[in-house]
Amino acid sequence: RFIVWEGGEGAGKTTQIGLTQAWLQESGWLEALQTLVPQLKPVMLVTREPGGTALGQHLRQLLLHSPTDIAPACELLLYAADRAQHLAEKILPHLDAGGLVLCDRFTDSTVAYQGYGRGLDLGIIHQLNQIATAGRQPDLTLWLDVTPMQGLGRAEKRSGSQDRMEQATLAFHQRVQQGFAQLSGQAPARIKRIDANCSQAEVTIQIQSCLREVLRQ
Ligand code: C5P
Ligand code: MG
Repeated sequence: RFIVWEGGEGAGKTTQIGLTQAWLQESGWLEALQTLVPQLKPVMLVTREPGGTALGQHLRQLLLHSPTDIAPACELLLYAADRAQHLAEKILPHLDAGGLVLCDRFTDSTVAYQGYGRGLDLGIIHQLNQIATAGRQPDLTLWLDVTPMQGLGRAEKRSGSQDRMEQATLAFHQRVQQGFAQLSGQAPARIKRIDANCSQAEVTIQIQSCLREVLRQ
């Protein structure tokens, strides 16, 4: 199973993935899977984009903290490069071995940020996503939908320096949110909207109820 978390700044993806990982480890679900596929260790891969591989770490550093401007097309290609390596090196081998992958961001982020946010051509983005993933799609995408005002407020409170995108305008982040909304309208079976404006505990409850359905299948 391949499960992806998506959403704008300050949606709580990283926190919620950590909570889900702990929940799955405690629930006995993994042990049950491990009995079926004993050669699988570890059975759960928790990863992220950009930066899910050693090469990707370099790309993440460039993408988020480049001291000079990055042309939009260059940014798009760097995200695609990061994803192609991530798929080949980490995600596909893990899925092929029967494992569970929890991934922080994937193709929908590129559509939302580089497509809706930056205004790059959606057809080209789709083609690049196809090249990077060989058409592999998540089984479930949890879209943590937070209003940009609230999300940026949360991101600001976090310790550490802001990355390039967190400094972008509110209008940019509103376009990104509209992008995720369009995507979820187009693929309602895959993308589940989670209301991420509410408390952390309430978000966790929503996520667990989505996951119960998917993991039972
Ligand atoms: O999810 P996380 O905060 O780690 O993402 C890193 C940054 O990369 C975010 O600020 C996000 O806005 C940006 N990003 C982007 N385009 C993507 C994916 C992420 O601008 N396709
Ligand atoms: Mg961020």
